[in-house]
Amino acid sequence: MAAKADYDVAIVGASLSGCTAAILLGRAGARVALIEKRPDPQAYKRICSHFIQASAVPTIERIGLYEPILAAGGLRSRFHSWTPWGWIEPTEERHAYCLNLRRSLLDPMLREAAAAQPGVELILGQRAERLLRDGEAIRGVVVHDREGSEREIEAKLTIGADGRDSAVAEMAAVEDKTLPHGRLAYGGYFEGPKPRFWPDGAVWFLDPDMAAAFPTDGGLVFYIAMTSKERAPEFKEDAERALVDHVAAVPEPPPIRESRLVGPVIGKIEMPNRIRGPVAPGLALIGDAALATDPIFGVGCGFAFQSGEWLADSVSPALRGIESLESGLRRYRKRHRRQLRMHARLIHDYSTGRKFDRVERMMLSTAVRDPEAAALFEAVGTRRVTPPDVLAPMARRVVAANARRLASPARGPRP
Ligand SMILES: Cc1cc2nc3c(=O)[nH]c(=O)nc-3n(C[C@H](O)[C@H](O)[C@H](O)COP(=O)(O)OP(=O)(O)OC[C@H]3O[C@@H](n4cnc5c(N)ncnc54)[C@H](O)[C@@H]3O)c2cc1C
Repeated sequence: MAAKADYDVAIVGASLSGCTAAILLGRAGARVALIEKRPDPQAYKRICSHFIQASAVPTIERIGLYEPILAAGGLRSRFHSWTPWGWIEPTEERHAYCLNLRRSLLDPMLREAAAAQPGVELILGQRAERLLRDGEAIRGVVVHDREGSEREIEAKLTIGADGRDSAVAEMAAVEDKTLPHGRLAYGGYFEGPKPRFWPDGAVWFLDPDMAAAFPTDGGLVFYIAMTSKERAPEFKEDAERALVDHVAAVPEPPPIRESRLVGPVIGKIEMPNRIRGPVAPGLALIGDAALATDPIFGVGCGFAFQSGEWLADSVSPALRGIESLESGLRRYRKRHRRQLRMHARLIHDYSTGRKFDRVERMMLSTAVRDPEAAALFEAVGTRRVTPPDVLAPMARRVVAANARRLASPARGPRP
């Protein structure tokens, strides 16, 4: 017979998004069941280059992890972008700094913080298998441990924080869109000479292939290749050689040939973008369960922290009985869409594997030579503002830069 337990909130998935929501909901006075299928508290996500965009730093500060991340060796890092027209350089702006810490350190640290939060019960080694329902509304989950014992966890709100292949979203049959991703991604940690921009990261927009170097804790650099899937046989045959050859062949290459691979090269070929309606009666999705668009721009960790925060703030009044849960969920859906919809649309469009279009070529070539355009590019790239926020100022910079170019055609190659 199933054992039963009652909570305000049942969160499925104790990774970045689930732990963030648990900490903030626990602080707001909710009784939270934080359910994780993996039994080991040290478990972590293996396929991730963990460059955490600056947009998420305020959330990380709020949950008390900013200093611990730096104390664990995490880096404050910006990014330099190579384009066919030259480098787009980062600003000195304090808010532009991103964070980078290996998931093997980050995930256990965050899970420990969630488990220490009064009101949160971390339940490890239990997989969500079914949803409990009360008419249309979801009212919790049924979980199984590895021996097959079943437990019913009833809750006013169920949260799917269970990643890009969310079982919760599938069981709830929420609206779901899958869009193609045209590039593969293979990467690995290397130790050796520091790349030129250390501790900043660098991304090469080779149009349409990509490569990146992300310095992280322990003096390591995560090198990653994102190329057309046509090159999959090369990577399948010898992933290390294909990765090193790709990164070493970029213009002004980082010192990957002088470095030594530490651990395996990890890769994935099929990574379709997933976008799901983030709420249903009694249910919300956060992190990759709501929107999975990586790896091309490395946004999912930041979005996981932020969407966990947006949801906790949106539903806390309802959980205290001040308003209906429906109102709180509506507020979350609105915020999620307002903040992420346009980022997602642009990322999905570019992740097909296509080359830059004319407008992108104009903007990037302008950002190479115009610091104000570079700052706008950085603000969107670090996800601190939405694309519509910069559209008008960027258009003005492009027009101004190209007017000057027309007046002196000798200044460099045309975009
Ligand atoms: C190649 C690659 C590179 C990336 N690089 C970056 C990067 O540089 N920067 C960046 O910001 N993002 C990056 N990402 C994306 C990032 O890894 C994810 O967006 C992020 O981990 C999402 O966090 P999450 O908490 O939503 O889900 P996840 O981290 O996927 O966690 C889901 C959790 O749910 C648990 N779970 C699943 N099903 C169940 C179940 N039925 N019952 C109980 N528990 C369950 C899992 O065990 C896991 O702990 C990358 C992704 C890829 C594929």
